[in-house]
Amino acid sequence: MAIAETDVNSDRTIEQISLGQVPTDLQPGSLPKKMRAWVIRRDREGEPRQAFQQEDIEVPEPGADEVIVMVMAAGVNFNNVWAALGKPVSVFDSHPEFDHHIGGSDASGIVWKVGADVKRWKPGDEVVIHCNVSCGECPECNGLDPLACQWQKIWGYETTWGSFAQFTKVQSQQLVAKPKHLSWEESASYALTYFTAYRMLIDQCEMKPGDNVLVWGAAGGLGVFGIQLCKLVGANAVGVVSSEDKKQMILDLGAVAAINRKDYGFERTGKETEEEEAARLKEAYRFRKELRGHFGGKEPNIVFEHVGQATFPTSVLVCSRFGKIVIVGATSGYQLDFDVRHLWMRQKRIIGSHSANAFEATAANQLIIEKKIHPVLSETLPWEGMAEAHQKMYENAHAGKISILVQAGAEGQGRTE
Ligand code: NDP
Repeated sequence: MAIAETDVNSDRTIEQISLGQVPTDLQPGSLPKKMRAWVIRRDREGEPRQAFQQEDIEVPEPGADEVIVMVMAAGVNFNNVWAALGKPVSVFDSHPEFDHHIGGSDASGIVWKVGADVKRWKPGDEVVIHCNVSCGECPECNGLDPLACQWQKIWGYETTWGSFAQFTKVQSQQLVAKPKHLSWEESASYALTYFTAYRMLIDQCEMKPGDNVLVWGAAGGLGVFGIQLCKLVGANAVGVVSSEDKKQMILDLGAVAAINRKDYGFERTGKETEEEEAARLKEAYRFRKELRGHFGGKEPNIVFEHVGQATFPTSVLVCSRFGKIVIVGATSGYQLDFDVRHLWMRQKRIIGSHSANAFEATAANQLIIEKKIHPVLSETLPWEGMAEAHQKMYENAHAGKISILVQAGAEGQGRTE
C-alpha cells in the first residue's frame, strides 16, 4: 500500500544522504525523507538507455513484517531489461498502485529499519536479499511452498522498491546472511540467478552424482552457477556458449566440456521453411552426436533451459529417455514449438521452475559462506552505470554478472573475514 508523503516524512530530520558512503549522521533505525533511485516509468518504456532515469523518491516505511535495507551494492539481472522494454508485459500491470518502478532483484546491504513484528533481524545486520515475495499467510506459504502462493511476486520486478535505490523495502523472510569473505559487490551479484539455478537442479531435478547435464548459456548469470552446482554434486556438465573466451571460462568453473553454439545451425526462429527446418534438425542431430561424445555415449538426462524459442526443440530432442528439461526463462522468445514425438516416445519431462523459496535460498547461501560455490562477477560499475549495464545485457555484450555500487564507496569494501 502506498504511504502518504506526510506520514512518511513526519519524524524525519535528514532530507537525503549522499551516495557512495555509509552516513555518519543517520543512525540505523531512522530514515531520511528522500532517496536517489533509478526509475522506470510507463511512458518511457523502451531500450534500457532510455527507460532508466534517475529521480528522487520518498523513502518508504517498513510494514510490520518488513525491513528497510540500505543498499550497498545492487546486482543487474535480465528481468529489468524486460522491465525497461515493457515486454512481454509491462511491470506496471504487476504493481498498478505505483506509477514508478524501482527495479533491482539483487542486493547486499545493511538492515536499517525493521517493522514491529520482525524478530530475526536487527538494524546493523549485514545481509543479502533473495527476491521471492509471497503473502506469508496462506496454506501454500505455510506448508506447501511460498512459490505456490497466489500473491507470489519477484521483488524489484513485479514489485517496486527494488535495489536500484539507496534504500529498498523487503519482507524479512527475504534476508540471508552476507558472506563475510565477500565484498559488497560480490555479495550483490549472485542471489537471484544462483538460488534459481539451485532450485532448478537440486530440488526440481534432484540432481545426483553421475548425472549428465546440458547447460545452455553456461557463461551467463544462471549458467555459471549451473556449472558449479554440477561440479559440486559430482554431475557432468557440458556448457554451451557463443565464444572461445567463454569456453575457457566455463571449463575453469568445472564443465567437462564446452561447445560453441556458433559451430551449429540448430537455432529455431519459428519461421523456417520445410527445407530449412529439415536442415535445422540435421544440425540438432549433429549436436546430439557431439554431446554423446562428451557424456560417454549417453545423452543428457537433465537439460538446463532458459533460452527458449531458439534452443527448446533441440533441448527436447537431445534429452535422454526419461530425462528432464527444466526451464525458467525464454531470452530468445517465449513461443516455443517442438516435435512432441521426441517427448512422448521417450517419456521425457518438461519442468517449469521459478526463483527459489527462503529455505532454498538459505541452503544455497550456506554453500557460498562455506566457499563451495563462488560468485562470478565480471564487472562492477559505479551508480551512474545502471542504464548502460542493462543496455549491455540487452545486447548480450556481457559475460557473468554485473554489480553496481550504491552506498559502497569503492570496490572491495565489506569484507570482514
Ligand atoms: P544472461 O543474459 O546472463 O545469460 C543468458 C545466456 O543465454 C547468454 O549468456 C547467452 O550465452 C545465451 N543465449 C542468448 N541468446 C541465445 C540463443 N539464441 N541461443 C543460445 N543461447 C543464447 O541471463 P541469465 O542467465 O541471468 O538469465 C537467462 C534467462 O533466464 C533470462 O531470460 C532471465 O529473465 C531468465 N531468468 C529467470 C529466472 C526465474 O526465476 N524464472 C531467474 C533468472 C533468470 P551465449 O551467447 O554465450 O550462448
